[in-house]
Amino acid sequence: MERRKRERAWAPATQLVRGGTERSHHGETSEALYLTSGFVYETAAQGDARTAGDEAGYVYGRFGNPTVTMFEDRLALIEGADACQATATGMAAVFASLMSQLRAGDHVVASRVMFGACHVVIDELLPRYGIETDLLDGTDLRAWERALRPETRCVFLESPGNPTMAIVDIAAVSALAHSVGARVIVDNVLGMPMVQRPLALGADIVVYSTTKHIDGQGRALGGAILGSDEFFANDLVPFIRTTGPVMSPFNAWVMLKGLETLELRTTRMCETAARLAAILEGHPAVAAVHYPGLPSHPQHALAAKQMSRGGSVIAFDLAGGRDAAFRFLDSLELIDISNNLGDAKSLATHPASTTHQKIGADARATLGIGDGLVRLSVGLEAETDLRSDLEHALRAAAGS
Ligand SMILES: *Cc1c(COP(=O)(O)O)cnc(C)c1O
Repeated sequence: MERRKRERAWAPATQLVRGGTERSHHGETSEALYLTSGFVYETAAQGDARTAGDEAGYVYGRFGNPTVTMFEDRLALIEGADACQATATGMAAVFASLMSQLRAGDHVVASRVMFGACHVVIDELLPRYGIETDLLDGTDLRAWERALRPETRCVFLESPGNPTMAIVDIAAVSALAHSVGARVIVDNVLGMPMVQRPLALGADIVVYSTTKHIDGQGRALGGAILGSDEFFANDLVPFIRTTGPVMSPFNAWVMLKGLETLELRTTRMCETAARLAAILEGHPAVAAVHYPGLPSHPQHALAAKQMSRGGSVIAFDLAGGRDAAFRFLDSLELIDISNNLGDAKSLATHPASTTHQKIGADARATLGIGDGLVRLSVGLEAETDLRSDLEHALRAAAGS
């Protein structure tokens, strides 16, 4: 507890490098990787005490592991959360954040623009278990007011929303949700750690795919759920321990090392993305650019209020539809075609045929995901090289 207090006083850059570090008796510089599935007890009585929770200490890998704990403590620190639970993937985090607290008869309201698999969980899976769900235009506060009711137990939103970069007013939606006693879960992958702090804005729970910026180097899958001690004790921890979607110690070690460079990578990616967004906006082959950091973004003022930067992901519509988008992607020589984002390598994807293929054409039309939409995740390469690659591919997309 003393350590936690000291760590909370550190600036984020220090927290990212040193927060949560628990050295073994060997005094290793880097965080130790505890590749063990279980833990031994000194005595039978100790097994009894640990199982009962009367003595602190590890019991079994599904309940906790020292390397995973270091990662969880470090991320909780930078997010300003009481507690963090690391999970095997981002989707495991999304699913557990909802299922750990929902029961048949509950109601969930979610902003429609979100990662494709989250859409499937909320729109298709939850209703199978007697949970009613409503999807709405998250930018419309009146729609939130109309949809929220006493049975609403959870509100789920992603802001900026993947892939159209729509912004939800986290503070206003949280206030509305709290007035009916619902908890607000924010998928903060595109908001990014440190750039957007949902808990400070009034949300109750933050989820991450740590596969994205937190690893940031395309190596490992992971997820995280952050929230209050109360939510952890009453809902999340019992659910996680019995259903088992935990992060492996090895992946937690990769993520810990990812956090050390997160601020540097975030700054660089967001700065490059902001400049590339402005260049794309002026290009004749581009019909529209969707980037929260551009003054042309319909919610630029709100984005500036709740995000300290515009993020590292840019979406843009190519005038020539799907053919132009495919020509553009196939002409890239540096930027890779990939569904992933937040990587050191810049990646471009065509959401309509990949990440949002499964939700169908009608849902895509409602979301504003056109056939000419391209999503670009800006990495760490030199801006000049990225710029020439984009310009070359845009010429090809325009058919010249
Ligand atoms: C990638 C992603 C997820 C899912 O994370 P996985 O680690 O792939 O399971 C959820 N939400 C958003 C916004 C994402 O980008």
